[in-house]
Amino acid sequence: MMIFNKKKIIIFTICALFATENVFSSERSLISKIRFSGNNESIRVIIDSNNLIKHEISAFNNPSRIVVDLYNVKFSEDFSFPKATGVVEGIRYAEFNANTSRIVFDLNESPNVKNVKVLKPSSGSIRRLSFDIVSNKKITAIKSKKVNKNYKLRKTIVIDPGHGGKDPGTSYPKVVSEKDIVLRFARILKKHLSRNNNYRIFLTREDDSFVSLSDRVSFAKSKNADLFISIHADASSSSNTKGLSVYTLSDKGLDKEAEKLAAIENSYAMVGSSYSGNYLRNARNPSDFVKYQRKLIDNRFKSTKFASTLTSRVKSKTSLLNNPLRSAGFAVLKSDEFPSVLVELGFVTNEYDRKNLRSGNWLQSISSQFVNAINEYFK
Ligand SMILES: [Zn+2]
Repeated sequence: MMIFNKKKIIIFTICALFATENVFSSERSLISKIRFSGNNESIRVIIDSNNLIKHEISAFNNPSRIVVDLYNVKFSEDFSFPKATGVVEGIRYAEFNANTSRIVFDLNESPNVKNVKVLKPSSGSIRRLSFDIVSNKKITAIKSKKVNKNYKLRKTIVIDPGHGGKDPGTSYPKVVSEKDIVLRFARILKKHLSRNNNYRIFLTREDDSFVSLSDRVSFAKSKNADLFISIHADASSSSNTKGLSVYTLSDKGLDKEAEKLAAIENSYAMVGSSYSGNYLRNARNPSDFVKYQRKLIDNRFKSTKFASTLTSRVKSKTSLLNNPLRSAGFAVLKSDEFPSVLVELGFVTNEYDRKNLRSGNWLQSISSQFVNAINEYFK
């Protein structure tokens, strides 16, 4: 590996033509000092001189070393080499030929040279040539930091407590109201998830206020959600029906969305069409339509994956509805932007579920299983 600074070569060439005397004087540049700074992982070699030094820095393996050739230099009387440290195991010096002084830095690991610079400090006439000898440990650390950073890019989870405000959802009169249970659960889940710095968590409503279905989806989009979890509780005409279930968007729902889009696409053929539906934002031309469909299908696949992870996690803590993995055309599941599921925690109309839904311990333990499932999903 040859380290060569092209910029400097160009400068040297120009100067050689017009101002040789000033830049590389026939007089030898005087090197007053070579010193090290930094630590075991990265050593900066600094060479002080009274003039620009024409130099060449090369790195070699077997044995591992960095060779610095300095042209037309001499050393000051009190000059001494710094002590070997960190990756630098030893320093050798030789007059390579009449004009070339060669300094060899012997290393105890493969050579990495970075940041070769020539500096003129703001005051005085000293010129400084510096470069870094970087340990592999540091390079590996930098690389793995980058990898970790990618791996740990924070995931955004939007939790959607259903209903709220004027819309109470289902209820078991005077005992439980869906809108309250789901908000309580969403808050617990947010608290649990917040312990993990890799997650950003948002609720579509923080209190007992009414939020429209489309606003819930738009909110999640605006936050660039990686996962959308809508929380609900169910009711049944049969008091025996009980258990948790998880919904993803049904084929029918998926087809309906596709149909809507197809209708919009077709409308493009109509001159002066005044269609101004939401989906125009998603499907401006046929290739967008295909992309939209692909994203919708891809996200549905991810939604199904998460739904199945979630049911397998929570089943140790509560009873599940028969065929707990279900699909329906819920409006909040119809985004192409992110995977989404709708969880029915249980039935307010069933005594066993009702007791659970009102129990802080039960909500906590189910929330923990949600966290496990989310961790597993993003792993
Ligand atoms: Zn509901």
